[in-house]
Order: sequence, then structure tokens, then C-alpha cells
Amino acid sequence: MSSSLPQILLVDDTVANLQLVSDFLMKAGFNVLAVKSGVQALKIVAITLPDLILLDVVMPEMDGFEVCRRLKAQEETQDIPVIFMTAVTDRANPSYKIKGLKLGAVDYISKPIQLEEVLLRVQTHLQLRALTQQLTEQNACLQQEIRVRHQTQQILQETERRWRSLLENVQLLVVGLDWQGDVEYMNPFGLGLTGYTSAEVFGKNWFNTFIPSSDQPQLKQTFHELLYHNSYAYYQNSILTKSGEERLIAWNNTVLRDITGAIAGIMSIGEDITQRQAVERMKNEFISLVSHELRTPLTSMRGSLGLLKMGVYDNQPDKAKRMLDIAVTDCDRLGRLVNDILSLERLDFGQVTLVKEVCDVADLIKHSVEAIDAIAEAAGIAIQVTPLSAQVYVAPDTIIQTLTNLLSNAIKFSERNTTITVGVQHQSDCILFHVTDQGRGIPTEHLERIFGRFQQVDVSDSRQKGGTGLGLAICRSIIQQHGGEIWAESTLGSGSTFYFTLPVYGQTSPSSLL
Ligand code: ADP
Repeated sequence: MSSSLPQILLVDDTVANLQLVSDFLMKAGFNVLAVKSGVQALKIVAITLPDLILLDVVMPEMDGFEVCRRLKAQEETQDIPVIFMTAVTDRANPSYKIKGLKLGAVDYISKPIQLEEVLLRVQTHLQLRALTQQLTEQNACLQQEIRVRHQTQQILQETERRWRSLLENVQLLVVGLDWQGDVEYMNPFGLGLTGYTSAEVFGKNWFNTFIPSSDQPQLKQTFHELLYHNSYAYYQNSILTKSGEERLIAWNNTVLRDITGAIAGIMSIGEDITQRQAVERMKNEFISLVSHELRTPLTSMRGSLGLLKMGVYDNQPDKAKRMLDIAVTDCDRLGRLVNDILSLERLDFGQVTLVKEVCDVADLIKHSVEAIDAIAEAAGIAIQVTPLSAQVYVAPDTIIQTLTNLLSNAIKFSERNTTITVGVQHQSDCILFHVTDQGRGIPTEHLERIFGRFQQVDVSDSRQKGGTGLGLAICRSIIQQHGGEIWAESTLGSGSTFYFTLPVYGQTSPSSLL
């Protein structure tokens, strides 16, 4: 008998029945295990699990109900279909069948047994069992699939959350455009930068809203080429904010496609490089200014020394000395230029730590005047200091450097027998210094410009007065780093006044000042 045949466990204490049903089922193609008692049946089941059990109800020792109860109590055996066989009629005991069904039996066969009926019921329940098993397996597969989908969904949600958090927190402009160039998305940084709300930009045409009109045709063309030829993945252009300000953005673009592969639009990530560009431009301008300024004395020096080397003035010692004087003067100027450039750079890039201390204003002015007194005397100029007393919290050397520079300028640009006055006023929230001369004055349009680097009113100033055009730029940097301001007022031909302020230190009595 093949083991792949359905296996039926037949349990009946009536040997004739056992024989009859067993023979019949075997002929019908089943593998039958026949036992005479419930106890034997349970022993068999512990060794091999049948596909179906035909169970007599009334048996000595252990009746069919008890066998069934025990089978249903065990996990391994609870699913085996049990069909009761009994001679107790429905009419004799109507609750009998119900009791069996309640215990988990699937069917009843009444004795005397109709073999055809047994076969039909066995076949039906085996089929039902097979179908149930199939359904259970399918159900398990479905449950597994649901679990996998649920996990996938959670992973997707997490990925989406991470992307969203990245888009919302990144300090870069992120813009999504559809294939027509209409805005589908702009991240909070982009909204902050442009000054719009999300409702104001959604659906707006990018080019018409954000691009200066003169750049629109070119950028529309670029957008088209990016979409359909995947070119221009990186470029820079200006965008307009809501207030009309222009910002320069460096873009990184990606073409987006829908699930069918059709072009859907672009996602662009942009960095605001306006500031960097400005710094870069300033740096370049500064380098070309410095190169120009350094070349002038160098060329002059080269000229003088070249003439000497060629022996042009070998027999004219006065002229040769004059050439050497020029070379020395230019050399000094070069030295001053390099020093000024270095100190300005150090100040501007915060490499100079201002070591501040409480200083008396009178002392600062006294030291500055002393440093410049000899030059003033040689130039025939008097320096008059208004007596005062106030305290400031400053790096003294730098303030003396500022005052000395202003005094030196005042001397350079004044005639003999004039007077320079230095004074201080106590303002409500600061100390105001002033250096006033009776010199040539400064044209109004130069009053602000002279605080820039290498700015001089007259191109001959550097040559004739030996300046570098960096002194006032250094003064401004020093004063600004002390939290003050510096500026000039002037009347052409009558003189100039340079002012600067420093924050007041502590409580100073106004009566003790000017
Ligand atoms: P430098 O004096 O070395 O040329 P500064 O930055 O100190 O450089 O001054 C810049 C320019 O401002 C001077 O070259 C001069 O043209 C003008 N200037 C500064 N101070 C005075 C002043 N007191 N009177 C007239 N012009 C002045």
C-alpha cells in the first residue's frame, strides 16, 4: 500500500464492523489503520497522524467522546477531522449528536453502517480538509505579504521623513519645477531667502516670478535644454527676492521623471553665493590695487638704480646722489606700503586681538601729540590740545596709532603757521574725538571715499606727501573694532575735521569733561 494514499484511522470495538469498513475503504483506495479501542487509537495517533478518524462512540474503557476530547486538546491532532459512528439514533437521544459536534467532530454516521455513505462522507471531509489546509496556507502567505508590505511602508515613511527633514533644515535652496517651469515645491530656506510664503510661490512660473526679465529668454532656453538634452546640470544665475533684491545662486539640477519614464520636471538645489562672490570680487580688486601700488615705487626704484648701474651719472656725483635718494625714498615707501597692507589685513581678518584696558583720554592724546610733535615743529604747525578728562576702555596703542595718523595727515595737508586742535566731547553714549586743521580741505565727494583702501584726493599725494592711501582705512578698521565710528567734515580751502567716537567706559561725570 502506498504511503501517499490518504490514511484513515478506524476505531470500533465491534470486530465485524471494523473488518467490513476497513476492507471497503481499502478497496476504495485508502490506507486504513483499524483499532478496537480508544486507548489504542490514541497510541497510534501519537506515532502517526491520520488524515481522518472514523470513531465509534460507544466503546468500553474509553468512549469515542473522550477520545475526541483528547484529540482536540492537542495542537498536533486538533485539526484531524473526526467522524463519529454510532447506533444511538437521533430520536432516542437528540442531544447526542450535538454533544459530539460540540467536541469538534465534523460529522456523524449512523449504525448500521451504509458503506457507500461512509465512503461519501470520508471523501467529502478529506476534500474539505485539503481545501482548509490550502486556505490556511494561502492565508499564511497573505499574512506574510501584509507584514512585508507593512514593513516596506514603514521604511518608506521613514525615508520620506528623513528626506523631508533634510529638505526642511538644509541651508540650501531646494526648488521643484514641473516641465513647464511652474513651481511645485520650495523648501523653507528658499522661502526665507526669497521672502515668499509657500502659497505665494506654488504654481507660479519660476522664470516670470524669480528671474530678472533680461535673463529670462536665456534661462528658459537653458531649462529646455536641461529637460530634453540633460545639459546644464550646473549653472549660476541671479534670482529676484520678493523685495526685488538680486541674489546669485549656484544651481545643481536633476531631471525628474514619472513612473512611465516621461519627463516630469526638475529638482534644483541652489547655494546662495552672493556674499562669496562679493568677497571674491573685493579680493581680486584688492590684489590688483596692491599690485598697482607696489609697482609704482618699484618701477621708480628700478629706474634710478638702472641709471646708476649703467654709469650714466658716474661723473656727476650730485645727480648720482639724487638717484640714490629717490631709490631710498621709494624703498621706504614700499616698506610703509607693505606694513600698512599687513596691518590692515590683520585688523580686517580679526588676527589682531585688541587687548583693552581703561585709559585716560588725556593720556592717549598726550602720547599721540608727543609722537608727532617734532614733525609738526619742522612743518611750522602748532598743535593745541583742549584740556579734558574722560576714560575709555580701549587698546591704547591702536587709538594712539589712529590719532597719530589723523595728526600726521593734518600736518601733511596744512600750510606753515597754522594750528591743529585736538579735542574730546562727552556725548550721551560715547566719547567724541576730533582733530581739526586749517589746511587745504577735502572735496565733499571724497569725504567718504578717502576711508577706502588706496584712496587719495590727489594722485600726487602719495608721491609728494609720502602717503600710502591706507592710513584712514586702518583708522576706520581700528575704530569699528572698538564699536565706534569715524568720519570727516571739511570746507575746501579752510580746513578739515576728522571725528571718531569710542564707547564711554563706566560712569563719567559730564562736568569733568569739556
Ligand atoms: P595717506 O595719507 O597715506 O595718503 P590716508 O588714508 O591717511 O592715506 O589719507 C587718504 C587721503 O585723504 C590723503 O591722501 C589725502 O588725499 C586725504 N586726506 C586725509 N587727511 C586729510 C586732511 N587732513 N586734509 C586734506 N586731505 C586729507
